[in-house]
Amino acid sequence: MGEDKKTDLEILGRSRLYNLPPIGIDSVNIESLRSYIGRIAQAHSWKTSDFINDILITEIKNIHYKDNPEIFYGRAGSINGFGDFTEECIKSLESLTMCNNLSYLTLKKCKDIFHHPNIFHRYLRWCSSCLEEFRERKIEIYEPLLWSISIVEYCPNHRKPLNSICPGCGKRPVSFSRKYSPGYCTRCEQWLGSDSEDDKKLCVTEMDSEWKLFVAEQMGELMKLNSSDKLPLEKNGLFNLIHLIIKITSGGNVSRFASLINRDRKRVTEWKLRRGLPNVESLIAICRLLEINLQELLLGNVNKTTLNKEYNHLLNLNIPPGQVQKKRSDQVNDSLEIELEKIYLNEYPPPSLAELQRRFNYYNMERRFPELSKKIAAKNTKYRREQQKLREELICKEVREIIMHLHNLGEVISENNIKRRMDNPGNFRNPLVRATWKKMKQLLEENLI
Ligand SMILES: [Zn+2]
Ligand SMILES: [Zn+2]
Repeated sequence: MGEDKKTDLEILGRSRLYNLPPIGIDSVNIESLRSYIGRIAQAHSWKTSDFINDILITEIKNIHYKDNPEIFYGRAGSINGFGDFTEECIKSLESLTMCNNLSYLTLKKCKDIFHHPNIFHRYLRWCSSCLEEFRERKIEIYEPLLWSISIVEYCPNHRKPLNSICPGCGKRPVSFSRKYSPGYCTRCEQWLGSDSEDDKKLCVTEMDSEWKLFVAEQMGELMKLNSSDKLPLEKNGLFNLIHLIIKITSGGNVSRFASLINRDRKRVTEWKLRRGLPNVESLIAICRLLEINLQELLLGNVNKTTLNKEYNHLLNLNIPPGQVQKKRSDQVNDSLEIELEKIYLNEYPPPSLAELQRRFNYYNMERRFPELSKKIAAKNTKYRREQQKLREELICKEVREIIMHLHNLGEVISENNIKRRMDNPGNFRNPLVRATWKKMKQLLEENLI
């Protein structure tokens, strides 16, 4: 890449490297800057390390990297972030490729809206199902930015935990190395995609996982915002909004708000006094309380009328002391409501309304707290449906395994033969199970499996 050639190309308005467009602009699956580096090297049939050592470091014009490339690799863990190092890389890559939107592949836009000291995971994480799908659908293999963020532990597309142990070397690959190539282990270079049935069956069943999945989905919303032309609120705007939310949902009562979002009261006081912004997890907890997404919160698209309507009943209960002496029953109702809000947000499995009425020996919930009761009932129904679906999936899996077993033994795949081997033969009555049996039988008869 000589200087003369560079000048010629620049005069012609052409890039020195391929003008490779980033993958996933405007979507949850926006690519990371690290992945882009891997792909641009591949597009020119270079190893990632050769591209970094011979081209990128030269372009960055930082003497320290030239003398000691280790410094570059040492900083590469934060390349998808918002610091000076990221800035240097974006500028140089944009100049080489003439792509002018590479800052979308980092968290640059979020620099001033939340503080998160260890926002990136030091190890590589990936969704093996996503990778396998890229390969099957002949989409270029890349690494979404979302996978590198430490608080994201689930793939929001497949609702299963991200992988971090390489099936080849059995170790945790570091997030970046000289061998980096999207979709492959940074240690042993093994392909990391997989479409194993066991992998697909990993479902969200614990409370902890439910919250983590919610976090992953909200970070996905952040990715969409990050790779669009929309601009989030500035620091002061966000402070104002949080102030308003505390006022509307909790009548300005910090302790009450802290308990609604399950955070420390001291932290919430800091936000209210504008001393420090919430970290991203706290912002997500606020989203959960308001039933909005993180993109809406950060853009300030929180409808005041909706908020007022939704929390009016809470506000009405918050009469300032001294004005009206509350009746004892009102005070009991207040604390019961806080308790119910907490249960609604945190208890897993989500209880039914009937169960809570029995637990508190209070049979007036629907009339006294209509909105909250509706939310509690809806969450319980959703949970029961998901559990039912999960049970059916497991039974179908059992039947599929029995059928393959019978097939391998050369036995007849009859209803009786299957039922005899099932844990609970009564489950064979389920229409989904019967459909699985018929489908498998047909596929086997046509030699398709
Ligand atoms: Zn996935
Ligand atoms: Zn490996």
